[in-house]
Amino acid sequence: MRILITGGAGFIGSNLVRLALAEGHHVLNVDALTYAGNLASLTDVASDPRYQFAQVDITDATAVGEAVSGFQPDAVMHLAAESHVDRSIDGPGQFIQTNVIGTFHLLQASLEYHRSLPAERAARFRFLHVSTDEVYGSLGETGLFTETTPYDPHSPYSASKASSDHLARAWQDTYGLPVLVTNCSNNYGPYQFPEKLIPVVILKCLRGEPIPVYGKGENIRDWLYVEDHCRALLSVVQRGTPGETYNIGGNNEQRNIDLVHLICDLMDELRPHSELHPPSGRVEQSEGRAPQHNSPRPVSGRGAGGEGPTAHSSLITFVTDRPGHDLRYAIDASKIKRELGWEPQENFESGFCKTVQWYLDNEAWWQAILSGDYQLDRLGQN
Ligand code: NAD
Repeated sequence: MRILITGGAGFIGSNLVRLALAEGHHVLNVDALTYAGNLASLTDVASDPRYQFAQVDITDATAVGEAVSGFQPDAVMHLAAESHVDRSIDGPGQFIQTNVIGTFHLLQASLEYHRSLPAERAARFRFLHVSTDEVYGSLGETGLFTETTPYDPHSPYSASKASSDHLARAWQDTYGLPVLVTNCSNNYGPYQFPEKLIPVVILKCLRGEPIPVYGKGENIRDWLYVEDHCRALLSVVQRGTPGETYNIGGNNEQRNIDLVHLICDLMDELRPHSELHPPSGRVEQSEGRAPQHNSPRPVSGRGAGGEGPTAHSSLITFVTDRPGHDLRYAIDASKIKRELGWEPQENFESGFCKTVQWYLDNEAWWQAILSGDYQLDRLGQN
């Protein structure tokens, strides 16, 4: 297929570009290269003759139209977005511009292009809108999000994604554009910008700095390894039914505090000699390991780390919670398993172990980011 991927220089997008090329597709990566876009995430595929890059801001309707008509895609996979909830609290305007207006321009350009195609190609064309489970709001202690869960977004980020989901579905219902929507749980893995929880914890461990955990760390997320997400997206674009929504999740619910402890334990094993002396006066009293209500499975082969005097977990610091912080997200991914045969390949142990190891092995990648404006600072305190 000829696949136009927006946001291909971001975390999920760069993993998706790599996987699509590996599966033999031609890819045009359309990305504005915001603070979150990084072509260094694609150096290994940059010279692949089936790969092209266009620096285009999706809020620029003309440039988006030219990119779509120029590349003549069989499918558009739309990932470009402002994606960080904390940033959406500080500056919601850019989230409306990119996530809502940008999606509108991409839908319009795709519709115009779709209408220009001969019938057989038009019938095969797909527009995949990649979204989040955060549009569904927060769950209590039980229950799962299904594809029919009513929308109830709480942050500017999730409200902007909900808005774009509705636009995408409306272009299917009103204009007949073959649209598919996916709503996915939290991703983790290689090339994630170090403002999100998992890389923050790893890099704070390496620097011996306080590891900020919002509130009491009791918020629960369903964690999915990014390559599993990308495999799901390619399945949906190739075999999904237009007009349908597919929830994608990892069957891997973890409380934030348990996950942070797991990463600290992995760091104890993999990098036992990192600096463990937080600057004095900067660490609030750690409340220690919270009750094991949803304990992670033990990581095999782990050393004595964890509770010892030099454990990275001694850096854990509870900080003021995020405003409007949803308590629990959990996905029922039975539809995509039943209809498309997809399920995650990585399990809890393998995925997190690989991820920690990747950040340890790819210091040049994240050091280049941290030498810029972003310094692992806390954002979005309202
Ligand atoms: P990211 O922030 O790492 O990457 C976003 C990419 O979009 C960057 O390369 C950025 O340069 C690009 N971009 C931003 N604004 C743009 C614009 N105006 N024009 C063109 N490009 C622009 O995000 P991510 O974590 O890779 O998420 C990708 C998509 O997946 C998003 O739509 C997000 O809502 C969705 N999603 C993410 C997760 C997750 O856990 N990360 C979970 C579910 C869904």
